[in-house]
Amino acid sequence: MNPSFTTLENFGHSLRAQSYLVQPRSADEIYETFQRAKKEGLTVTARGAGRSYNDAAMNGGGIVLDLSGMNNILEWDPATGQVRCEPGATLRQLWQRVLPDGWWPPVVSGTMTTTLGGCLSANIHGKNNFRMGVIGEHVTEFTAVLPTGAEITCTPKKNADLFYAMIGGYGMLGVFTSVSLQMKRMHSGLLEVHAWPTRTLAEQLQGLEDGAPKHDYIVGWLDCITVGHGQIHAANYLHEGDDPDAQKTMQVAYQTLPDRIFGIFPKSLLHYFMRPFSNTLGWGAVNLAKYVASLRRHTFRQSHAAFHFLLDYVPNWELAYGRGGLIQYQSFLPRETALQAWTEILTLAKKRGLPSYLGVTKRHRPDKFLLTHAVDGFSLAMDFKITDGNRARLYQLTQDFDRIVLAAGGRFYFAKNSETTAETARAFYGEETVEKFRKLKKRCDPNGLLESDLYRRIFG
Ligand SMILES: Cc1cc2nc3c(=O)[nH]c(=O)nc-3n(C[C@H](O)[C@H](O)[C@H](O)COP(=O)(O)OP(=O)(O)OC[C@H]3O[C@@H](n4cnc5c(N)ncnc54)[C@H](O)[C@@H]3O)c2cc1C
Repeated sequence: MNPSFTTLENFGHSLRAQSYLVQPRSADEIYETFQRAKKEGLTVTARGAGRSYNDAAMNGGGIVLDLSGMNNILEWDPATGQVRCEPGATLRQLWQRVLPDGWWPPVVSGTMTTTLGGCLSANIHGKNNFRMGVIGEHVTEFTAVLPTGAEITCTPKKNADLFYAMIGGYGMLGVFTSVSLQMKRMHSGLLEVHAWPTRTLAEQLQGLEDGAPKHDYIVGWLDCITVGHGQIHAANYLHEGDDPDAQKTMQVAYQTLPDRIFGIFPKSLLHYFMRPFSNTLGWGAVNLAKYVASLRRHTFRQSHAAFHFLLDYVPNWELAYGRGGLIQYQSFLPRETALQAWTEILTLAKKRGLPSYLGVTKRHRPDKFLLTHAVDGFSLAMDFKITDGNRARLYQLTQDFDRIVLAAGGRFYFAKNSETTAETARAFYGEETVEKFRKLKKRCDPNGLLESDLYRRIFG
């Protein structure tokens, strides 16, 4: 287990840091790394697939524990839908294992490349957050190694304080070594999807609000350049007997996303051709074309993989943003204040000449995890291209966004936002939550070994 000194990046390629990379294969090797870090005065950060948009899995000058090699599915019971995995197992591995037996992960991210350790640490939400909550609500048990060397088992009842703090705790208290989850029963490999256009932000939020109770999933696309045009996709599971080919549609081969366009052109090269259009004019034209194409209200059936992992259709799409990369800014606002706050945010971005090229809205519900990001309301995720010329202005813009979101009683998501300051984090978590977290941190990690760039930014 000799560490190599390596440059690591965030998913958006907007940050770079050099770290000692260690690839453990067991809980013992994780603890060995803690001991070595203590001896050498270094800090340690866990990393799954490195798909966080920000610095959550980065540790400049310290050790990064790459857990992607601990990726076995340890136990799978098709009778009950209970699965136990090592933390480096990805959502791709998981759905491919369980779907042919008639199950699907209850919560997934917009990409299947994430690991379970990363998903638990961020406590991810899906397009069904309003109905199924965050992934942590479906975890029946996890094991973890603490920097003290303690190997702990947590359930919602056993070591409950750590259960609710380590899930959503961004690897700041300990490192997950196994995760047990309850899958959701499926009767088809297809979803019934309804798509309809929305003309304004107000119409989109109303559409999410009214559509959520009638659907299993709902998500909105928002054109942040024209500010307002958009489209909603809402989907429902099929009932038993609705899909005459259920045995076929639940097979991995049926779900797998094609890697070529028209069977010829490799999609892995597509980002090179997208790059020249990655500017306000290009994205404006793409958004307009998408809106025009979405004007027809329609219903169709789509595979789970195609519905959930649309972004995986274009491998390495983030590279289309060019050398400076991209950042994502996701804010969560209560239903009562969302419209006004986002109208202010979108207008400000436009006024400063820094529009977001892609906006995604979702409907959410609160949860009881200590460092929760969810609210009874909505989220808006916005992608921004970074260039040498706009980096400082974009930073200022996100600080101004933060003030608007805080004043509107909103929250932020630390798998995404890369500019939030310690003051802002303290303001939205509240003193009591921050103190509770600090006490747990002292108990689990008395020597302060677990630190990421994110940790130093928001708790340092
Ligand atoms: C295209 C795309 C779409 C996305 N869509 C969504 C979405 O719909 N919903 C959503 O909620 N998120 C979404 N995300 C964000 C993503 O789900 C999270 O950032 C997730 O944490 C990434 O998982 P990872 O394995 O890459 O973790 P990493 O980015 O490597 O790490 C994330 C955090 O987990 C910690 N960590 C990793 N492994 C362990 C471990 N074993 N023990 C303890 N801590 C650990 C790291 O220290 C870090 O703090 C999306 C990201 C991308 C790139």
